[in-house]
Amino acid sequence: MRAVSTRIATISAALVLSMTAAAAQTRIVAPKNKYSPADDVKLGQEAARQVEQQLPIMHDSEVNGYLNRIGQRLVENIPAEFRHPEFHYTFTGVNVKEINAFALPGGPMFINRGMIEKAHNEGEVAGVMAHELSHVALRHGTAQQTKATPYAIGQVLGQVAGSIIGGGWGQVISTGSQVGIGAAFLRYSREYEKQADILGSHIMAAAGYDPRDMANVFKTIQEQGGSGAPQWMSDHPDPGNRYEYINEEARALNVGARPSDTGEFQTVRTYLSRLSPAPSTEEATKNRRAGRTTSGEVPDRRPDPSAVARPDTQFTSYNEGNLFRISVPSNWRELAGNNSVTFAPEGGYGTQRGNSVFTHGMEIGIARDESHDLRTATDEMIQALRQSNPRLGQPANYERTTVGGRSALHTTVSNVSDVTGGQEAIDVYTTALGDGSLFYALGVAPRDQYGTYSRVFNSVVNSIQFAR
Ligand SMILES: [Zn+2]
Repeated sequence: MRAVSTRIATISAALVLSMTAAAAQTRIVAPKNKYSPADDVKLGQEAARQVEQQLPIMHDSEVNGYLNRIGQRLVENIPAEFRHPEFHYTFTGVNVKEINAFALPGGPMFINRGMIEKAHNEGEVAGVMAHELSHVALRHGTAQQTKATPYAIGQVLGQVAGSIIGGGWGQVISTGSQVGIGAAFLRYSREYEKQADILGSHIMAAAGYDPRDMANVFKTIQEQGGSGAPQWMSDHPDPGNRYEYINEEARALNVGARPSDTGEFQTVRTYLSRLSPAPSTEEATKNRRAGRTTSGEVPDRRPDPSAVARPDTQFTSYNEGNLFRISVPSNWRELAGNNSVTFAPEGGYGTQRGNSVFTHGMEIGIARDESHDLRTATDEMIQALRQSNPRLGQPANYERTTVGGRSALHTTVSNVSDVTGGQEAIDVYTTALGDGSLFYALGVAPRDQYGTYSRVFNSVVNSIQFAR
């Protein structure tokens, strides 16, 4: 079956802006954060590695050199209180045409080629970069996780602490243009958006850019929206009156002397116009799935179910991100996913057309549960699973059980394997964590081996102990 892709709920934070005086610049206080700056660096680097495998990165000194010059100029003007010596800011072009940019905790920033192509001047490029930089400097990605449930926090660490194998496990691009692993860090609350706008305008002014260019570029992005609003808009929701308050803030700032539109901007634009046009993110994703790999992409590594050894009778224990402890057959590997971890034997997992798939083993993870009723939540989760596994059957009946001392449900559903086309059985165990999240364990095995595997799944589920 295909591995599950879920997303951690984004919980909005309290507004941490405060006005000092009417005409003075707005004072900013970074939100509360349980993580250390070193955690930001670690999480961001892990996500960046996956991004680099999955997106068409530009290895082009003309483009990256230009982005770096703007970026470093902005970095030098981050206010002292928001500097973190651990952070390492990098600026990399991505060869896709949509206006978008994103930055990961600790400093890696990715800027779409379309961002440079559609900006009216360098100040607009700098505006988006200053906004992204501010999210990083204020540590919004991990601050957001601080606000999330204790389980979700453990999960994020678990997901990154787990081993990520070289075969491309972990579906970074889950739906078209979404960057899956980063999503937890990339969806910001409106309060954080306003902070990033305000700090971004301060950094711009200090670096000699006119903050009004940032207000203008947001307008451009919004106008681009049309039928399908670009990704940037959904990751950076408009707090309301964005254009107005940025312009108002700009009035309180001393802007340096650098012109919005430099000769360098024109040079890079001319250079880009001579390259073959950038594909859309969707086209780039399709090319990748079709195996037409470009630089840095990883080809499929298909499972080989015939090579799967019987589950070891010896078990090995794993601690998953301070969330739970679990024991699995010693010949199964730990594979970190998106809000989940999968344990599977050699040959029993891999990738197919860019999707993570497994034929033998267990996936354990957390899904959102808005129903507060275990049966309904489980039905909804199975329904969600069906989106990526269209031949998944209906659960016949539910049996009451326990997982880690919590009241749980168990059911079995049939599926047709994506890999072999054969029948497979999926054991589903669920328990509500009581904080809007559903803990699940999915055991997957070919139907003709289910007798052996169902006992193993049961033992694995029985070994689960929650940390709190
Ligand atoms: Zn933002």
